[in-house]
Amino acid sequence: NNESSGSGKETLTFGTEATFAPFESMEGDKVVGFDADLLDAVMKEAGLDYEFKNTGWDPMLVGVKDESLAGGAAGITITDERKETYDFSAPYFEAMQTIATTEGTDIQSAEDIKGMKIGVQNGTTGDSAAQQLVGENSTDISKYESSAATMMALQNGDVEVVITDNGVAQHYVKNNPDANLTLIDDKDSFEQEYYGILLPKGSEHKEAIDEAMQTIMENGTYEEIYSEWFEG
Ligand code: GLN
Repeated sequence: NNESSGSGKETLTFGTEATFAPFESMEGDKVVGFDADLLDAVMKEAGLDYEFKNTGWDPMLVGVKDESLAGGAAGITITDERKETYDFSAPYFEAMQTIATTEGTDIQSAEDIKGMKIGVQNGTTGDSAAQQLVGENSTDISKYESSAATMMALQNGDVEVVITDNGVAQHYVKNNPDANLTLIDDKDSFEQEYYGILLPKGSEHKEAIDEAMQTIMENGTYEEIYSEWFEG
């Protein structure tokens, strides 16, 4: 848990799924990454006490829904479907799905993976993209509980491709050269996505969080955090 300094104020608990580097991963018992730093900057700017907990993906979604959690930060895409159940902060990061597979592949576009064994993280936009491509109930789709589990399945040969977020996939391929993985982008098949901080519907903190987000985007803090995790 990452706890901000106590001031007698209520501590808001945010959940995450910490196998999603460079956005969130574990360093000892601490969640680190772009989202961890962004959330920290936002909450400090907003004057809110918080802790950031590795709850796992599904428990995070459930917890924010039933308000046992104050929010979630996990490279979470703002979607119309989720907006029926949740609020989101202002968008803070642009992303797109990509196809991860083994080097030397013939795959050139999303169309080419039809008929292949596809791994996704359950309930993610990668999961939705796979369903759109090969059908909602396709037995070609295998669902895993974490991003790390999808990548293990790919390396074990349990699936032939993984559909996941580009930033995470790029980071994984770069940091695991022995896995011999490659990425196929397909801007015609996949939609532009934007990450937001997940909040309960009607969250009393949305306004403060959005204002703080705007401030850190304007005062250079966002850029500093970005260059720490995505450049050099
Ligand atoms: N951006 C994707 C989504 O919101 C994946 C997020 C994740 O796996 N942490 O569904």
